[in-house]
Amino acid sequence: MVDFYYPESVDEALVLRAEHHAIPLAGGTDLMVRYENWSSLPANIPGSVMSVQQLKDLHYIREEEGYLCIGGALPLNSVIEDERIPRCLALALDEIAAPSLRNLATLAGNIQNASPAADSIPPLLIMDAEVNLISQNGSRIVSIRDFITGPGKTDLKDNELIESVRIPLDFIKKEKQGILSYRKVGTRKANALSKLSVCFWAECEDGRLKDIRMALGAVAATVVRLKDAEDKLKGVSLDELGSVWKDVRLEFEKAVRPIDDQRSTAFYRKRTALKLLDAFIQQASDSSVS
Ligand SMILES: Cc1cc2nc3c(=O)[nH]c(=O)nc-3n(C[C@H](O)[C@H](O)[C@H](O)COP(=O)(O)OP(=O)(O)OC[C@H]3O[C@@H](n4cnc5c(N)ncnc54)[C@H](O)[C@@H]3O)c2cc1C
Repeated sequence: MVDFYYPESVDEALVLRAEHHAIPLAGGTDLMVRYENWSSLPANIPGSVMSVQQLKDLHYIREEEGYLCIGGALPLNSVIEDERIPRCLALALDEIAAPSLRNLATLAGNIQNASPAADSIPPLLIMDAEVNLISQNGSRIVSIRDFITGPGKTDLKDNELIESVRIPLDFIKKEKQGILSYRKVGTRKANALSKLSVCFWAECEDGRLKDIRMALGAVAATVVRLKDAEDKLKGVSLDELGSVWKDVRLEFEKAVRPIDDQRSTAFYRKRTALKLLDAFIQQASDSSVS
């Protein structure tokens, strides 16, 4: 028998986390599937569970100290509808499952699930987003890059809650000046996990690539940001971008080793990722042509 708690405040939820290590349940769209049982039997959840969905103090989007902060229990549809949300994140969240599920599911749940195919993670990685974790001992902020430690694994401690996801306002301000490419490749439009997903963004200035950020989902054990490739491409003149990319591409080809699984083959994933990268680099090169 699972103990189920329904805290009425964040403070009460933190007591339950500290004393019972109660597992947070937001939309339940991952948790209930992971521990589903035979029809009509309760879910096989190992330990006690507490709902966080009703905690209205975690239903917010607000600016704080240079970040746009998205509360840990806000459903995805409310995030998507907010005009302050960066386009790369809105596009990605709009691809998750179907509208009815997005009324329940949360951003916090998507990142804590830490799937290599989680749709919110590529945009969060390219924006250098952070996670605000709270416990009875206070709060700590961890970059999304360090928060996800492996497939299905994160740095969340058993007395902590995700209070919010923080997006730098600096990126949001400049996003529109750059070139954005977000693509999710799946079997069908709704209720399909990614075969792969890509989120690329670049900013060109005075005929050079000033900044470039590239993340790929479902091509490795975790979502990956291509930092080494980005560093080699930054500052390159747009006229030379095509030839520099050829060398960087060779290294990338060797480094990326996707897997075969029920959703796709490694061959398809790698070939499609490379084609989308080629197309994006071409788009950036072409931006010099007036
Ligand atoms: C039919 C279907 C289709 C789907 N399609 C997609 C898809 O296209 N793309 C995609 O990325 N995902 C998809 N998913 C997975 C899932 O819907 C998302 O990952 C969703 O964002 C999870 O959010 P949730 O609130 O339901 O999480 P929950 O299931 O409630 O929780 C997930 C994990 O997060 C933890 N958690 C939740 N809130 C907090 C908090 N505030 N602090 C700390 N830990 C917390 C839980 O304890 C659990 O470990 C799909 C799922 C289903 C069932």
